[in-house]
Amino acid sequence: MIKNNNNAFNERRRLLIESLKRRGNLSENVLDAMLKIPREKFLDSSFHFRAYEDTALPIDANQTISQPYTVAYMTTLLEVKEGDKILEIGTGSGYQACLLALLGAKVYTIERIPDLVEKAKKVFNEFGLKINTRIGDGTIGWSEFAPYQGIIVTAAAPDVPDSLMEQLAIGGRMVIPVGTKSYQSMYLIDRISDNDVKRHVTDSFKFVPLIGKEGWKTG
Ligand code: SAM
Repeated sequence: MIKNNNNAFNERRRLLIESLKRRGNLSENVLDAMLKIPREKFLDSSFHFRAYEDTALPIDANQTISQPYTVAYMTTLLEVKEGDKILEIGTGSGYQACLLALLGAKVYTIERIPDLVEKAKKVFNEFGLKINTRIGDGTIGWSEFAPYQGIIVTAAAPDVPDSLMEQLAIGGRMVIPVGTKSYQSMYLIDRISDNDVKRHVTDSFKFVPLIGKEGWKTG
């Protein structure tokens, strides 16, 4: 159970979630879970006052915590069910992983920047959430625990990494922004069988680059 003791933040969070509900395309279940998460805990104290703006914000190492709308949008597409094994690439602040855990998923999250993993782990511990973390290149996935019912990539990929495709369960789904470094389309990929996948392209977004063996070679 996450404790939310700060009344001023609680009210701002409620207003943000209400505004996201009014957009009409986001899962109520996902938004109700977001209502329980104190976003300020994932931010440096100098950004606490902006925690409930619907915008991406800076975290350490020149990275970002994604915009709340984007988090809700991707998680809505993922259609997480209780007990699903979900792989996240790009732990960042840990906010998205926390949301997946609150939705009842078994979460595996990979981040290439060690300091970010250390910070995120502190928040997971504070919240009493058991989330499996790994420092490394997420473009090659985490084969030890595959297959996954869901894979969510929270950085911009030049293409869908083959390794992630291989680690997606039959009947599973991947949400991944694919495009150039300055502009991406959100892909929703359903794995129908060993050889058959369905790909839908939805809205446009802007993410930091996915850097690794099956991603961009540099930032
Ligand atoms: N999901 C995060 C959250 O809730 O705060 C936001 C992620 S941030 C937009 C993207 C993250 O992907 C950055 O922290 C970046 O270091 C990470 N990243 C980029 N390439 C990666 C890779 N190959 N493997 C793992 N993480 C990667």
